Amino acid sequence: VIILAIESSCDETAAAVVVNGREVLSNVISSQIDVHEKFGGVVPEVASRKHIEAISAVVQEALDKAGIKLEDVDAIGVTYGPGLVGALLVGLQYAKGLAYSLNVPLIGVNHIEGHICANFIEHKDLQPPFVCLVVSGGHTFIVHMKDYGEFEVISKTRDDAAGEAFDKVARAIGLGYPGGPKIDKISKEGDEDAIKFPRAKMDDKNSLDFSFSGVKSAVLNYLNKMNMKNEEINKADVAASFQKAVVGVLVDNAIKACQRNKVDKIAIAGGVAANSSLRETMQRECKKHNIKVLFPPMILCTDNAAMIGSAAYYEYQAGRESAIDINAVPNLKLGER
Ligand code: ATP
Ligand code: MG
Ligand code: FE
Repeated sequence: VIILAIESSCDETAAAVVVNGREVLSNVISSQIDVHEKFGGVVPEVASRKHIEAISAVVQEALDKAGIKLEDVDAIGVTYGPGLVGALLVGLQYAKGLAYSLNVPLIGVNHIEGHICANFIEHKDLQPPFVCLVVSGGHTFIVHMKDYGEFEVISKTRDDAAGEAFDKVARAIGLGYPGGPKIDKISKEGDEDAIKFPRAKMDDKNSLDFSFSGVKSAVLNYLNKMNMKNEEINKADVAASFQKAVVGVLVDNAIKACQRNKVDKIAIAGGVAANSSLRETMQRECKKHNIKVLFPPMILCTDNAAMIGSAAYYEYQAGRESAIDINAVPNLKLGER
């Protein structure tokens, strides 16, 4: 089954050709980062316009690189939520046009399910059930994937998403947008034990929920205090110490979630899965607990269409086609249809 997949939920216009959910023939990503950089974040209206400009060429490039023609496509997969409504609509309308004209099924995909399915592309034997730690720009939760398309959320963030915290802290220490990769890089030159930033504690000690607004505020307070005292700020130390606090709680909760659900396999998904400290710490700690940890390759951690093609395949297998009047759902929940 050859699926042409389209992704436009945020600031990447992407298209990919994926065979049977696991084999990627092409994966084209056109990023708008340089456009949004000067604003310090994604400007929704600008994102929509840029998607419109890019989408035709991106889809054509995906077909060319895969060496196929539109007529070879068996189904169109497309992200319909969650994301920015104007941005989603560009990909969705384009996908509808293609599906209608080719007379092939249209399969609306949940973007977060896509992030999780990125793991299927890298790990050919991976099958549900497993636990997944989803850490992206807008979402942070631990989910038990019981079967394809079947999810049970174990815990979630009560405020900021992990990626959001990375981006906000990066901005505060003047590293620019997007902050995650920049914090990751500069942290390598810093001392992660230089500053003690608090790790969030839940009132309910059994809760595996996350909270990142506390550590974010602690960083901001620290910066203010240093500025008031006119003391020099070591950005690398701040970044590394912040990163340690976030990674620590992600890893601890992920391992507890596996133990409680008696699962010995955990997949990581979303943009923050690209973080080198999270990857190393997760590998090390999971080994101690005899848990197998899986990551997608870097390029499939952040937004791309190959992951959407994989998720679309399993939806297609389950017979879940979308109606041609499907709408974008900006706050679509995982497992919701
Ligand atoms: P969502 O998927 O929740 O809708 P999104 O699509 O904007 O949000 P992703 O593409 O999954 O988010 O990931 C982008 C996020 O990942 C950003 O917050 C970015 O800072 C973060 N990120 C990317 N690389 C790294 C890294 N190496 N370390 C930490 N964070 C990173
Ligand atoms: Mg992005
Ligand atoms: Fe994403």
